[in-house]
Order: sequence, then structure tokens, then C-alpha cells
Amino acid sequence: MIENKECPVCGSKDIGKGKQYAQGKMFPIDNLISLGSEVIAEICTNCGHILSMKVTKPEKFK
Ligand SMILES: [Zn+2]
Repeated sequence: MIENKECPVCGSKDIGKGKQYAQGKMFPIDNLISLGSEVIAEICTNCGHILSMKVTKPEKFK
């Protein structure tokens, strides 16, 4: 659970964190042989709305 977050769609404060594995990894478009980065999503556990998605290693995309 993440504090101080609220779903803009349904107003629920039950926000969970999700992680995409394997196929869901994000890779730099010009460097596909790198290891890429996992993607973390913040998801409303009430309606399923995704509040945000971020990669764990943004420096790989510079
Ligand atoms: Zn919601």
C-alpha cells in the first residue's frame, strides 16, 4: 500500500504496487541488447486504474 495516493477514477485510496516481469520489461529503443529495466506500476486495487508506471533503472534510457 502506498500512502497519500488516491485513485483519480474512483477515489479509492487502496493503491497497490505491481511489477512486470520478463516480457514486461522495458528496453531502451536504441539499445535492445542491454538488460533493460523492470517496470513498477501503481495500481488502484478497487477499479484497476494504473496511476503511474516507472522503470526501476531510468539511467539506462539516457
Ligand atoms: Zn480506482
